[in-house]
Amino acid sequence: MQRLCSRPLCSREAEVALSFDYSRGHVRLEALGDSDPHVLDLCAVHAERFDPPRGWTLEDARGPVEVIVLSAVEPGAVLAG
Ligand SMILES: [Zn+2]
Repeated sequence: MQRLCSRPLCSREAEVALSFDYSRGHVRLEALGDSDPHVLDLCAVHAERFDPPRGWTLEDARGPVEVIVLSAVEPGAVLAG
């Protein structure tokens, strides 16, 4: 499931999710996860350029990139026979 950057005129693939905690004035950068209407999807370029509002704190919680490789299983192979 590919999601695109939320910035206007940007067609890069989204890689980072920005979530906003308005009560604390806090912005959190995370690896893109499940689709969430409260999260802003940004590509890597726009995530790097993002500046939090004045007085807000920015937390980069992306951490090391994890690559999970699932072994490909043919849908019919398991049930065959
Ligand atoms: Zn972008």
